Amino acid sequence: MRDLDLPSLHAAIEARACDSVPLADDEVLALPEVSSRDGREMLEAAGTVRDRAFGKTATFSPKVFLPVTNLCRNKCGYCSFKKMPGDAGVWTMSPSEVTEWIARGREHGCVEALLCLGDKPETSFPAYRAQLASFGHDNTVDYLTRVSRIALDHGLLPHTNAGLLTREDMAQLRTTNVSLGLMLESASDRLCGPGMPHHRAPDKQPQKRIRMLEDAGELRIPFTTGILVGIGETRRERIEALLEIRRISRAFGHVQEVIVQSFRARPEIPMHAASDPSDDDLIDAIALARLILDDDVSVQAPPNLSPHATAKMLRAGINDFGGISPVSPDYINPRHPWPHLKALGEACACEGFSLHPRLPIYPRWRERTEFIDRDLEMNARACERRVSSFAVGRSPHLESASVGSP
Ligand code: SF4
Repeated sequence: MRDLDLPSLHAAIEARACDSVPLADDEVLALPEVSSRDGREMLEAAGTVRDRAFGKTATFSPKVFLPVTNLCRNKCGYCSFKKMPGDAGVWTMSPSEVTEWIARGREHGCVEALLCLGDKPETSFPAYRAQLASFGHDNTVDYLTRVSRIALDHGLLPHTNAGLLTREDMAQLRTTNVSLGLMLESASDRLCGPGMPHHRAPDKQPQKRIRMLEDAGELRIPFTTGILVGIGETRRERIEALLEIRRISRAFGHVQEVIVQSFRARPEIPMHAASDPSDDDLIDAIALARLILDDDVSVQAPPNLSPHATAKMLRAGINDFGGISPVSPDYINPRHPWPHLKALGEACACEGFSLHPRLPIYPRWRERTEFIDRDLEMNARACERRVSSFAVGRSPHLESASVGSP
């Protein structure tokens, strides 16, 4: 590794912004030397990279959020989604509930059905296995395939985040999902140690998640991943996680978006006494992501977790807000309602951006036939026609609600 001094690093950041020269691995790993004193330079560079790659367009995916089951075998320190059998609020959606919510999503202009659930519930909970059997299934992936088909039949595009999946699971879900997701969250084994947020979460070991990301790449599945900010990681560990995502993305070309998501403390979670990351931490992480990741990868931050920081997030290099729902809450962060689209559009306009809906598979991946089957492409075309007629400020169905707590 070169011995990089600060002037060399500043020159590398300038070349990244002005001449589209990617940062080398050793330059990325030296970024912790660029301190917050240099924050403005990094933000400006990240904004320039985003402008070149995505222009002054910010996107979001109109979605219905389906928490297929909130049972999970892990115990992450920051999670308020997971429930145990017998807990208040434990919920596995029945086929009729799924159908009802999907129909409601379609009626309100959604194009994405987000299937989100805990990790491997059937390995830990006999009551869940019995419930699956009552639906006619003996494993979760088969049930997810059925739910995905219901979504497709209603004209929505499924995107599933089911935690760690095997290669066979993903190969099956690929036939009904236009994209899959798994947050890397962190590449740090340190966070799996005693007293750390992933100590009681066997599926959060970084090597397992990296392996799944690589398997998805080999299967040519358009993929969403990301990092969590503020769960006890250092700035260097954030940078290392982003570098690992870049390595995987370059190896397989399937990473279409990377989420930079803030931890939010809540009274009901083990990390209830932890402090939320500051806006500055989030903004710094967004700028790092935009500078480290290649230009074809979308950088996303959820607008509901930092509702007062929309302008800052745009200046730091995001081009996407992720899924926003007119019909269902953010079950992962239920205390944080989605923004009203009109207000979000106005906040974007103040920064010179226009806000547009998109599909859960990005155009660059639809153009490559190895990433989408023909049948799914037909569904995507129909959804594209629907979103192309949408304009923020003139779509009362989609904008009719800012959905809060369940
Ligand atoms: S964050 Fe995900 S894996 Fe961790 S406990 Fe919650 S649902 Fe399970």
